Amino acid sequence: MSSKKIILNTNKNFEIIDITSQINREIDIDSGIVNVFSKHSTSAIVVNENESGLLKDLELMLGDLVNDKYSWQHDRIDNNAKSHLKSFILSSSETIPVANGKLDLGTWQSVFFIELDGPRTGRTVGLTFIGD
Ligand code: ZN
Repeated sequence: MSSKKIILNTNKNFEIIDITSQINREIDIDSGIVNVFSKHSTSAIVVNENESGLLKDLELMLGDLVNDKYSWQHDRIDNNAKSHLKSFILSSSETIPVANGKLDLGTWQSVFFIELDGPRTGRTVGLTFIGD
């Protein structure tokens, strides 16, 4: 087992960053699995298709599901309840197979870091490799 990390700076409140090639550069096993884990409660890691219209659709859907209909209680603390709630809906990690030293993704799959409360500096994504 080994681990590495990717540090990201984000530029917008909501931002989708394709980290597939960055992960591929860090892979130090030939075959096994990699767990990709965001160490933040207002972000997410997802696998899906990198198509600009679809990524906009995700932003619209999350905005529709988590809106200003309620007075969110967490906003009394640091005014970012919607960012956390969107993170609850998504996931903080994905585990992906590795084959021939690369992510073994489907043709239309990419790995994304999703910023839900940006812009931020120093967003940390941990990579844990299991395999050989
Ligand atoms: Zn908060």
